[in-house]
Amino acid sequence: MAEEKEGLVTETCCGCGVVFGMSPAHHARRKYDCDTYYCPNGHGQHFTKPSTDPKDTELVKLRADLATATALAEKLQKELDETRLDLEIWKPSKAGEKLVLMSDQKVGAST
Ligand SMILES: [Zn+2]
Repeated sequence: MAEEKEGLVTETCCGCGVVFGMSPAHHARRKYDCDTYYCPNGHGQHFTKPSTDPKDTELVKLRADLATATALAEKLQKELDETRLDLEIWKPSKAGEKLVLMSDQKVGAST
């Protein structure tokens, strides 16, 4: 059990029960990296990483899936908008009006 005393963080060895001090920086580093540290009598010990809740893991996966699905939906919407624009360009302006192809026009013909 950690306790801060006169600039040192104290720990109690789980092997022999001796109370010993660590600098706050060293204590924080071992707590972060979960690397092994030793009591004055040489008993190795380490902090354990907090267990991750399976729901948290699932939430992270679901958020990633949602981001992928949103990106795909935006891409498909953009393609749909472009296709609609193409249809607007090629749609006759009036019902029954024929499209006139450039090759059917007498370009440059003199009368
Ligand atoms: Zn010990």
